[in-house]
Amino acid sequence: MKFSFKIGSIWGIPIELHLTFLLLILAIFVLSLLSNLNFYFFFIIIALFIFVVFHELAHSIVARRYNIKVRRIVLYPIGGVSEIEDPPNNPAQEWRMALSGPLTSLILGTIILAIGLALTPQLLPAALTFTLTGNLILDLATLNILLGLFNLIPAFPMDGGRVLRAVLAQHMNYSKATRLSVITGRILGIAMVIVGFILPGYFLLIIIGLFVYIGANQEGQQTQLTTKLAQLQVKDIMQPDTTMLDSTQTLTEAQEHMQKNQHHNALVQKNGAYLGIVTQNEITKIPPQQHNLLHIEQIPLVNIVIFDDQSILEADKLRLKEQLDLLPVVQKQNPTQIIGTLTTKNIAQAYEKTQNPNQQPT
Ligand SMILES: [Zn+2]
Repeated sequence: MKFSFKIGSIWGIPIELHLTFLLLILAIFVLSLLSNLNFYFFFIIIALFIFVVFHELAHSIVARRYNIKVRRIVLYPIGGVSEIEDPPNNPAQEWRMALSGPLTSLILGTIILAIGLALTPQLLPAALTFTLTGNLILDLATLNILLGLFNLIPAFPMDGGRVLRAVLAQHMNYSKATRLSVITGRILGIAMVIVGFILPGYFLLIIIGLFVYIGANQEGQQTQLTTKLAQLQVKDIMQPDTTMLDSTQTLTEAQEHMQKNQHHNALVQKNGAYLGIVTQNEITKIPPQQHNLLHIEQIPLVNIVIFDDQSILEADKLRLKEQLDLLPVVQKQNPTQIIGTLTTKNIAQAYEKTQNPNQQPT
């Protein structure tokens, strides 16, 4: 089930709006209609949306500087999440990237606050309460400052959680740093819920606390998964099967072989040496009546191999990029000798096993 919708993209990064944000915008819109066409809050929520985009773009600018690929940005009412492609592996870059978002919100908030106070200095006491005053400029300033402060809470999925993990990771390994950050997040989440129940007028803390608690767990699981997969090597899950078609076989024979093995590509050899990968994609470009006449070596082959000591994450990325469901494995010291194959199924099983380590493979 998909809970977010793509609304555009910047620098090739898809930007998605989460369902909760959409519902909030709709709810405020309906409330504005009901309350004598008072669109003040509706306008505030739309402004919040723009400020969250600014916040997230700050993360993306820093990510780009370090060549970290951002897979997508999801916008939530309380901030956004920039999903990065690789597991974190450089604490110094991670804390800078995480801190850039809240800093941007705080700086924006301070600038708007200064403008607001210059225009209406009599509202200084109201501005210091950090609640909505009804003055548009001051309220926009408050929104940005709250966005910045909230995201500095040292718990996942907030940026502060990432900063905490990165700082810890400079003194210990990532798994341990993540575990400690997840525990901190859980404790903070529970504390917020308790304070929300005790103090009157702070009931919002109950919801935020639950959100923090759930977010901490999710991030923990996700990071453990990618960290474990990054540690797994191709040789740990590949199959020793090195069946290859001969380059002089016909396209019809190649197709039959692929159908039998339920793959969309197959390895090809010539005089005993690995030649490349024949793909269903290339074969379908040839008219069917010629399939029986043409030899495999007469059509373009994909020429790639993966090394047995590469990580599963790297191999999986290559598989997706080349759209292959079968990759030939070689050793670095003997790059022409195929020692096995890695299939989509092997990778899927590794993912599953890492997610449910106690389950026996069936
Ligand atoms: Zn952020």
